[in-house]
Amino acid sequence: MEIYLDANATTPVLPQAQAAALAAMASEFGNPSSIHSTGLRAKAVVDAARASARRVLGAPTGRLIFLSGATEGIQTAVLSALSALKKRRDEDGDAAPRLLLHGATEHKAVPEALRHWNALLGLDLPVLAIPVGADGRHDLAWLREHAPRAGLVCTMAANNETGVVSDLDGIAAALAGSPALWMVDSVQALGKLPLALQARGIDYAPFSGHKLYAPKGIGLLYVREGAPFTPLMAGGGQEGAARSGTENMAGIAAMGAVFSAIEEGRSFRPAQTLAAYRARFASALEEAFPGLQFNAPTERCLPTTLNFSVPGCSARLLLDLFDAAGVRVSGGSACGASRAQPSHVLEAMGLPAWRTASAVRLSFGPAVDEAFIDEACARIRACGQALRESCEGPVASSDRTADGVVRWPADGGTCHVVADRATGRCVVIDPRPEIAERLAAWLRCQKLAVAAVLHTRAPAEEAAAIAASLRGTAAGVDAMGWPEAGESLRLGERRLVRLHHAGRLGGYVLDHGHGPRLAFVAEAAGLPPEGWPALERGDLIVPSHDPDHRCAWRAGLPETEPDDESSVAVDPPGLQQLRREQPAPRLVDVREPYEQRLGGGGALQGEAVPLSRLLDALPGWLALPAETPLVFFCRSGNRSAQAARLLRRLGRARSYSLAGGLALWPNGAGAAPQDEGRLAAWE
Ligand code: PLP
Repeated sequence: MEIYLDANATTPVLPQAQAAALAAMASEFGNPSSIHSTGLRAKAVVDAARASARRVLGAPTGRLIFLSGATEGIQTAVLSALSALKKRRDEDGDAAPRLLLHGATEHKAVPEALRHWNALLGLDLPVLAIPVGADGRHDLAWLREHAPRAGLVCTMAANNETGVVSDLDGIAAALAGSPALWMVDSVQALGKLPLALQARGIDYAPFSGHKLYAPKGIGLLYVREGAPFTPLMAGGGQEGAARSGTENMAGIAAMGAVFSAIEEGRSFRPAQTLAAYRARFASALEEAFPGLQFNAPTERCLPTTLNFSVPGCSARLLLDLFDAAGVRVSGGSACGASRAQPSHVLEAMGLPAWRTASAVRLSFGPAVDEAFIDEACARIRACGQALRESCEGPVASSDRTADGVVRWPADGGTCHVVADRATGRCVVIDPRPEIAERLAAWLRCQKLAVAAVLHTRAPAEEAAAIAASLRGTAAGVDAMGWPEAGESLRLGERRLVRLHHAGRLGGYVLDHGHGPRLAFVAEAAGLPPEGWPALERGDLIVPSHDPDHRCAWRAGLPETEPDDESSVAVDPPGLQQLRREQPAPRLVDVREPYEQRLGGGGALQGEAVPLSRLLDALPGWLALPAETPLVFFCRSGNRSAQAARLLRRLGRARSYSLAGGLALWPNGAGAAPQDEGRLAAWE
């Protein structure tokens, strides 16, 4: 069962909303503008949906316009307000209000719409962000001060990342006497908070159907009676000429069913029950990840949202971990493929950088039930355990498992640890500040004694300090960390020697006693094409500075570049085909140990070689017959593509990555229950 905890991004469609949408596409397919009976029945569906929305939203008067979603609602509101401001400026000149204000934690759609229409209408008014406090709420004193000069104020009812609920009554009071029009982005509040739009004097309120169990592509905009209005879409005059274009009847019928469900009160849990569910999530999370910090005060938040950071764990790591357990959460910050962007919401709240960059959001919809919460909390606890047993996370405990070379990629480069299980000793090469804390905890957990901390180039002050703390009191090392007594460093059967080139230190060579040696160097760019004189043909060169995630080169051998990224991809039917051929493909699961502990490979089982442990497996793969295909897979296809491209460059043409990863593999980690038939269909 998939545990979907990303309801602030989108929700599934409620069964009664599905039924209403299907009916609107099948039996009741009419165009509400037609005046025959089929059209009249369609119009009745629109009227009923709007009437229900009026009751739920506390909007007995004013416009309630069905449109494509909140983004369109926001555009329409901003266009309406700015067109009116332009008219006022033409009439009143400098006396017209001059400021456009939006909350600092607003969804991107709002500031972007302000900038867009401000420029397009030629207004060029200053756009200012209303600061928020550490609790995520608007600074009302600041707002009071700026309100007299404001032409439009945009604040959200509840924040999508943190769930922080705005003090709408406080904002209304701060705006008393101001000429400003007021838009409240109510997307995240629908079905979770009473809104009373008319009573609060809100001018514009956009909503999005898919955040509350209606399909994507349908939304609603409330416009107060008497508030300025300019249609965004002109045409056939639908929606009382407020939004032309034939209505999205399936969407409107579904949204109507959701409003009816709110009214009848059985499908959605009351706020108190939701708050109790959230408390259970909070304790499961705290138990799973000791030291976890919540990024917003829960008493000020929607009862359905938790935003948290775990010291030493990136958002990416946590997302991969949860996903392996079939639990879908999201990065509270936008996570790029390789670099986490800090969250602008948490930054505005003044949180420290590590929390803004590693935040995770857990959000659920008000239709969840007790059994779902039980299962979700159990899986969260299992995630914590998998992390601890893999020596990751704040409190880890494990029997020593690491043996061989472990890669620790960070933003600025890769640190390598050579571990020897037999002697319990290790060597760290090029430690990096970004992972220093995690690495130290991992070494402790693995019970590895640090024999040396080496640098491939003169270390910056920070790296030297990390090296000193990892190394402890061991004296007698040179500036690069090499023990002054000794030509080689022994770790059981393994032997490290210094690599010199043109009289200067070029790095370190690791001899495992079998297979190609590994040469740790600062960077591979500028290496002599014929290889390093001290290296043997075929030795693997491993750079610390590796911005393109290339991982390794072979000394003295030409590289074969894959044509492009997509040429390593094999889709699920392609993999099924490969599995029917001889020689059979070798399947390799490159997910990290904590993900693999949680299983989730489903129907696809492979040899477990985490991307961080790839270097040890390379010699074996390179020695395989050339016809044997190697197929790497991971959660989403990113890490497996890195592995497949590496193997192609090292000369193994039949190396592939499962496109879309387990997320698209039937019965894999990402499969939803209804995917079950697909595997059979491909066989
Ligand atoms: N406003 C908020 C607070 C949101 O969370 C979202 C969606 O994430 C939007 C606006 C935009 O909604 P849509 O993409 O459905 O138009």
